[in-house]
Amino acid sequence: MARKRKIATCSLAGCFGCHMSLLDTDERLLELLELADFDRSPINDIKEIRGMVDIGLIEGGVCNVENVHLLHHFRDHCRVLVSMGECAITGGIPSMRNHHTLKACLEESYIRGVGVENAHIPDDPELPLLLNKVYPLHEVVQVDYHVPGCPPSADTLWHVLSALVTGRDPRLPTTLLRYD
Ligand code: SF4
Repeated sequence: MARKRKIATCSLAGCFGCHMSLLDTDERLLELLELADFDRSPINDIKEIRGMVDIGLIEGGVCNVENVHLLHHFRDHCRVLVSMGECAITGGIPSMRNHHTLKACLEESYIRGVGVENAHIPDDPELPLLLNKVYPLHEVVQVDYHVPGCPPSADTLWHVLSALVTGRDPRLPTTLLRYD
């Protein structure tokens, strides 16, 4: 019997919508669990990767130093790394701040913004340091596959995941290749 694959997932600067889409695969998740186990993932609330895994799925772009460390950790521990969704592929909505300086964004959010009270830019040392811009994953580490969509549909994610765990070509047919 073939070895069960291991899958890990995480969210960087994303909204968890891509993970919700993964959950939308519904009963197919049970089929997937016949072939693979989930390691670190918000789906099972395991917080750390526990060794090498076969497939890593990451949603969200890279907006702070903590994201950089986690992304490198995934790259080092995932044989195949997949950018899941627009934020991971292009930076997505969080990267709209790239049109402005970080200083301007922080001042607009915490000093000058409508309804701001007790104007103060958070400076707790426990907060991860923000990068000057939001980066797509492939500008920080090597990425093996990109799955477009905001979010990619459940059918799209199922197509890619079921192909990767069974060793088939995960290339998307045009019917599933969507960017919205
Ligand atoms: S691609 Fe869309 S659904 Fe996925 S994390 Fe980004 S905003 Fe959310």
